[in-house]
Amino acid sequence: MTAMIPYGRQDISEADIQAVVDVLRSDYLTQGPAVPAFEKCIADYCDVQHAVAMNSATSALHVACLALGVGPNDRVWTSPITFVASANCALYCGAQVDFVDIDPRTYNMSVDSLAAELQQAEKSGVLPKVVIPVHLCGQPCDMAGIHALAQRYGFKIIEDASHAIGGKYRDEPIGNCRYSDISIFSFHPVKIITTAEGGMAMTSDAQLAKKMQLLRSHGITRDANEMTHASDGPWYYQQIDLGFNYRMTDMQAALGLSQMRRLDEFVAKRHSLAKRYDQLLEGMPVTTPWQHADSYSGLHLYVIRLKLDEIGKTHRQVFEALRAAGIGVNLHYIPVYRQPYYEGLGFKAGHCPQAERYYAEAISLPMYLGLTAAQQDKVIAALVESIAK
Ligand SMILES: *Cc1c(COP(=O)(O)O)cnc(C)c1O
Repeated sequence: MTAMIPYGRQDISEADIQAVVDVLRSDYLTQGPAVPAFEKCIADYCDVQHAVAMNSATSALHVACLALGVGPNDRVWTSPITFVASANCALYCGAQVDFVDIDPRTYNMSVDSLAAELQQAEKSGVLPKVVIPVHLCGQPCDMAGIHALAQRYGFKIIEDASHAIGGKYRDEPIGNCRYSDISIFSFHPVKIITTAEGGMAMTSDAQLAKKMQLLRSHGITRDANEMTHASDGPWYYQQIDLGFNYRMTDMQAALGLSQMRRLDEFVAKRHSLAKRYDQLLEGMPVTTPWQHADSYSGLHLYVIRLKLDEIGKTHRQVFEALRAAGIGVNLHYIPVYRQPYYEGLGFKAGHCPQAERYYAEAISLPMYLGLTAAQQDKVIAALVESIAK
């Protein structure tokens, strides 16, 4: 049996390997020059003032929440159709989390639902402190709409752009924080560029950047201006906050820096793969990804929805048949509040009906740089067969 075609995977060039080897032969494996160089590269690419590298997007989301002052008694809202990390970050801070239902076309947080929930929450005095929209599959959320609501209701915005580096919203790079306080990228190997593990928090606010830099490294400063009293000597540093070790290594940053050279090529290739899928799927009983005119998606994922009323099979039967045919399809995502941990917090089925409908129909087809036309044809043939059989 031939190997499974995965739903996503990294693309590592000889130049990427050499960049990591160069760090291994250098004086610094961590806290050397590669991390600030990678941060500058991302900040320049996104046209944003500050970029703070971390060891994962999960860490970056946590530190972003803390920098915005999220704590016990606060509320954070996100999308139910996301990886658990988008919600867990609020719980790490002792805050309460809630979920705003998705738009049935983009599968991103619905701005209409958000507006309705905010109106209710204002009446009950339970407005969120932070809202975390997630750019699912790389397609940006309606950030102008969410930003307008933030102005009206006074919440902060963290964009979970884990899927979205290289994409654009209204012709500007995602991650520029025009409509948000902080934006987050992930560099996990299935994402658009990789550092193995790694994440980045972008902001145009110098204070937020400083706070995140402090929190990623134990809350320790060596900047005399931030200390409570004069230095005891050249060895001196002060811990002025309770931080973590969330640092990225120089090996990771060098890999990221090298991958950045091919970012635009990566996203362009994803678009050509998506276009080909769109054509191959024409006339089949599936809904292909809908792209908003304001967006240039990073296309981290290619998600189809089965039109189950036109198919004599269940979602699970189609999914299992695809896996049996060697197609590593996946499902992004289980609504977060349907996880046992979240059910333990009191969430119940039916909380976000659109999200649950999506979950009952969605399948992520393989989408990655090295996917060949022949492999794409194999995916489609397996899908045709799984629906027909
Ligand atoms: C991958 C992902 C994360 C977490 O990223 P890590 O770098 O693995 O911590 C968070 N949010 C979303 C939407 C993701 O897809």
